[in-house]
This record gives sequence, structure tokens and C-alpha cells, in this order.
Amino acid sequence: MTNIEVNNLFLYNYKTMIIKEIKAKTILSASKVYDWTINPYVGCQHACSYCYARFMRRFAKHREPWGTFVDVKINAADLLGREITRKNPGKIWVSGVCDPYQPLEAEYKITRQCLEILAQNKWPVIIQTRSPLVLRDIDILKEMQALEVGLSITTAEEDIRKLFEPSAPPIMERIKALDELHQAGLKTYAMIAPMLPGADGLAELLKGKIDYLIIDRMNYHYADWIYRKYGLEDKLTDRFFHLTRNKLENICK
Ligand code: SF4
Repeated sequence: MTNIEVNNLFLYNYKTMIIKEIKAKTILSASKVYDWTINPYVGCQHACSYCYARFMRRFAKHREPWGTFVDVKINAADLLGREITRKNPGKIWVSGVCDPYQPLEAEYKITRQCLEILAQNKWPVIIQTRSPLVLRDIDILKEMQALEVGLSITTAEEDIRKLFEPSAPPIMERIKALDELHQAGLKTYAMIAPMLPGADGLAELLKGKIDYLIIDRMNYHYADWIYRKYGLEDKLTDRFFHLTRNKLENICK
């Protein structure tokens, strides 16, 4: 097991990260959103200011701020190979409380190894990421029988993205990734959650690149200080949410 600090190693993450390789006890977890979820990592380098998954610090006994540590489940594929034979098949969410394509995945390929097992066993999969790194695995994704692959995109404005998710990939890289996945014949979706200021511009950017859209508003208040600091409080209102949702809902029609 290694415990290393990495500075400026990854394309999108410029913070000092505490990275630890761990052996997980289990990998297939029951989910309230879909049937199952797999999280190849504990923690997330994208470090979004509003991230709801920061509650994982408590379970993983991490005291560091969210977005500054990642535990890599190096035995995830071995566990999955065993657990998948013992559990009832169902839709698997990759992932619920981390980004399966955060920068470390380029090196560790844990998500890729898990997808290979899911493809071999023909389980339905729904991928959710903020990273174009998902394109690396398009060969496996094309083999899957029931796959939905989505990019989370919260605003069309790069300046807003930098305020709320400075360590996540740029908006246009995500849009291009969706386009490429869609062109490859895969079922694609965009998740606009949370709906940040400037989200209405996504109506134009997403057209023709997705099969469906998931929209949600900011239910977590970790990033309220950013709204206050930049005078964006009107973008937290019901009015903003309903007006923006009305503009976005026609994308797939
Ligand atoms: S990419 Fe997802 S899991 Fe990672 S910090 Fe952002 S919201 Fe949280």
C-alpha cells in the first residue's frame, strides 16, 4: 500500500492531493437511485464546491477537506468479479459518490476494469461523469448491451464553471465528449445538476448530442458563499430555476 502526495500531476487538478491505495471490502452497493452503484474511488479530485458526496469523509474517516484526498480501490475489479456472480442483476450507477473518470483514472484504470466485467456479464450500466476521459473506454462502451452514458454539465459559461468547479474539465470538452459518444451510437444524456447560473445556454450547446436530459436544482448549500460573494443570489431562486428549466426542456423534442 502506498501513501503519496502528488503535485500538479494531472491535467485538471492543481492542488496537492493525498492519494492512497486501499483494499476495499466490497464494491457493489445497493443504491436508492438505481439498483446498484460502484465507486472505484473514495474522494474526488474534481472537488466541486457544491458536492453532496463530501459526506463520504465521515464514512472514510478522512479529516482532510473534500477534494484533497482520494483512496484508490485497487482491488475493485477483483471484488466485482466475485460479487457479480452472487447478486441479482440490475442497473449499475457508475458512480454515485465520486467521478469514475477523475484524473487518477487515467493512471489506475479501475473504472475501465470494472466496465469490462460488467460488459462480460451483460449488466445494464449508467455512467455519470464530468470528464472527457470517458472517451478512452468507448471500445468497451460499444460492446455493452444496455448502456447510458452521461456528462454532468451545470452551466454553459466557462467563467461560472471556474467559480464553482475550478478543478473539473472545461464545459466545451464535456460537450464535445457527449457529441462523440452520441455519434458513436451510444445512448447519451446530460445531467444539469445543480443548475448553475448560465445553464440556459446549454439548450443550444446540447442540441443533437443527447437522448435525454436530467435537470435538478441546487439542493445542497455548500456553495452558497460563492453566490453571495459574486452577487448571484437571484440564481438561487425558484423563479430562476423554473425559467431556466422551461428553456432547457425542449432540447430533446
Ligand atoms: S465530480 Fe461529482 S463527485 Fe466529484 S466533486 Fe464534483 S460533484 Fe462531487
